[in-house]
Amino acid sequence: MTAWDSAFLAAPPLSEAEDRLPPAHKLFALRTLPMGEIRAIGFDMDHTLARYRSPEIDDLAFKKSARLLVRDRGYSPWLLEQDYDPGFAVRGLVLDGLRGNLLKLSRERQVVRACHGSRPLSRPELDATYGRRRLSTAAKGFRNIDTLFEIPESHLYARLVDGLDGGHLKAENYLQLFQDVRWAIDTAHRNGEMKAEILEHRDFFIPRDPQLALALDRLKRSGKKLFLLTNSEWSFTDGVLGHLLNGQDEARPHWVDYFDLVVVSSRKPAFFLETPEPKPLEGHPRCFSGGHAAWLEAQLGAQGEEVLYVGDHIYGDVLRSKKNASWRTLLLVPELERELRLLEARAADLRERYRLETARRRTLRRASVLHDQWQRNRARRHVLGQRLSAEATQALDHEATQLAASTEALQRRAEAQRLELEGLTRSVEAAFNPMWGPTFRDRDELTRFADQIQQFACAYTGKVGNLYMYDPLATVYAPLPALPHERRM
Ligand code: IMP
Ligand code: MG
Repeated sequence: MTAWDSAFLAAPPLSEAEDRLPPAHKLFALRTLPMGEIRAIGFDMDHTLARYRSPEIDDLAFKKSARLLVRDRGYSPWLLEQDYDPGFAVRGLVLDGLRGNLLKLSRERQVVRACHGSRPLSRPELDATYGRRRLSTAAKGFRNIDTLFEIPESHLYARLVDGLDGGHLKAENYLQLFQDVRWAIDTAHRNGEMKAEILEHRDFFIPRDPQLALALDRLKRSGKKLFLLTNSEWSFTDGVLGHLLNGQDEARPHWVDYFDLVVVSSRKPAFFLETPEPKPLEGHPRCFSGGHAAWLEAQLGAQGEEVLYVGDHIYGDVLRSKKNASWRTLLLVPELERELRLLEARAADLRERYRLETARRRTLRRASVLHDQWQRNRARRHVLGQRLSAEATQALDHEATQLAASTEALQRRAEAQRLELEGLTRSVEAAFNPMWGPTFRDRDELTRFADQIQQFACAYTGKVGNLYMYDPLATVYAPLPALPHERRM
């Protein structure tokens, strides 16, 4: 039973079709999405319309960047021997470039897990470095791992920190490594080599999803204006979307046929913050390079909440489009499929955790009441003192002994329950990632990443093709928001 089933305020019933969808095919709404009111739907390309094969694509970026560091920045060839470990980093972490650390933050922006290079830091080490304070990651030297593109960056940085600490590499400090890694990843994306390799092996790196063309076509036929808004340049966009969409539908032979407007090299998040002039792309009607949100809205005759934008970047695609343009947002979370699979596989353990935690809290509550009774007993003995008969004193002392023994037994039981819970929690969290645990939570707390999703995404889903199963004119309902007092305890 979910928290919502037990709410006094019932959520609107799900439609039959939606209810039966397997979770990996669902849209999870955080805010109710009245699809009928949406006039224009925009799509980001990389890691949104195009799902890249992972971890192979990350391995490619890692290797290309390492090679650049050795070739152009004089790094030791030791770096070329380092393998990419797909299990090392996850999305939502923060790089601390000053200290050579990688951090997982809670919703309250406190560091809950960390490693220095690839060495995990203990709780006392964390406390000594960061204290139990809110961390502001906007400061110089921090970098949020908000997109899947940044995962190899965090891993390469950790390897460099290991290399510096182990005497394999030379650098002034951790910050220099941090800046060099940024340069290398940036160069790998810009110099065209990596993209050429992706396009050369597009069948391998960019798997097709038959539902993608169906989803776009269904939305378009329902009267929505569709647009593409990508930071990728035209040649790469054309190569990737041509591979995914050309020839999928006789009525729309070319990928551009799915869109009313195409914007490449869009410079998100600046696209939502500045107002550069768009440049028409010669020979490609309806296609532009650059531009800005107000211009795009005027082109499509839709504004603010009438626009839904679908993207994978929590900051550049979702936070900025919601905050600055008031667009509705659908966040793509390719990791969701694996996360759902693990939640399902560990469902019995999660239920057992819940049972144990409930039992532990009950035990502690009973122990605290018995302890209070013992204290009252002792206070009474003290106040009444000489006025008590010998039998009454004996009875009182007997009761006190029993109360003390029962309290102690309950406290021992609570400690045993805590230890069992601890073991179970560790094993469940390690199944998600041995170093970082689940992406969206840490123990019973949401992570900074999950908190940002809750704050800025109207909904989230694993892949764009999932939209095919949703009526483009029907409302997708979010659970009704409820305060704790509105729920059945
Ligand atoms: P989008 O997700 O479709 O908006 O496009 C992302 C684009 O940004 C892709 O072309 C990536 O290659 C590119 N990109 C990602 N990270 C970097 C970077 O660090 N420097 C330069 N380009 C990047
Ligand atoms: Mg993207």
